Parts: sequence; C-alpha cells; structure tokens
Amino acid sequence: MSELRELYQSVILDHNRSPRNRRVPEGANRHAEGHNPLCGDHVVVHVRVAGDRIEDVGFEGGGCAISTASASLMTEAVRGLSQAEVKQLFESFHALVTSDPGREPEIGGLGKLAVFGGVREFPLRIKCATLSWHALRAALEGDGRVSTE
Ligand code: ZN
Repeated sequence: MSELRELYQSVILDHNRSPRNRRVPEGANRHAEGHNPLCGDHVVVHVRVAGDRIEDVGFEGGGCAISTASASLMTEAVRGLSQAEVKQLFESFHALVTSDPGREPEIGGLGKLAVFGGVREFPLRIKCATLSWHALRAALEGDGRVSTE
C-alpha cells in the first residue's frame, strides 16, 4: 500500500508542478469560477462545448497542491466526453473521495483520477479535490460561480 501511496503522491506532485491545460481554450463558451474559502483555493474553469460534447477544457488559478493537481487531472479526464459521461465521472470521483477510508476504494472507470483516493483520509482536503469538478458542473449548467461552502 505504501508503494501505491508514493505513486499517487508523485502523480499529484507532478500535476501540481506542471499543471496540464492551464489556459483558456480557444472559443471557450462556458465558464465558471470555483472558490474554496476554507483553503483559499480559487479556480476558473473554461469549456468549449459543441453539441453535447466537451471539445476542450482548461483552467486558470489553483491553490494548494491537491486543488491544482485535481483541476489538471480533471481537464485531462473530461475532454471529449459527453455531458452525461462527465456527470457520471464526477459522481464516481465524488463517491471515491468521500468514501470510508477503512474500506477498499472503488476506482473502476476512474483511471488516473484514482490517485485522489488518498484524500479520503483528510476530510478537509475533499473540497480541494472536488472544487474544479464543482466549477466544471456549474459551467456546464450555466451557473457562473460556485463556492464549496
Ligand atoms: Zn486546497
């Protein structure tokens, strides 16, 4: 388990150091801002939606390592998905990070997002991990602003 934990930490550190898709995609037509006052994290998610599909997605801002890495991995995970697929992925991700740390995590279908399973042990960090996802959902639903409080 500790080897796995080290691997997870290295993925999070890598995405924190070199965030992917930290940019405003050309032609972005949905935007939302997410704020986590408990930690000071602040992200703005920009999406280009065509029909039902996420054609491109990027973000600005960040905060602690967990929130920045989560935004980075989120943008990689959702590009090309339909809105229903994004919703399903967010539900699986949310279920993972809020699940009982004493039990085997459900990581089916989550791919690299499974690295956030470690967050389960740190309840204050759950909002850091889910902030960019809440902002993405708000962007897709047309709300411009979301706070985790
Ligand atoms: Zn944070």
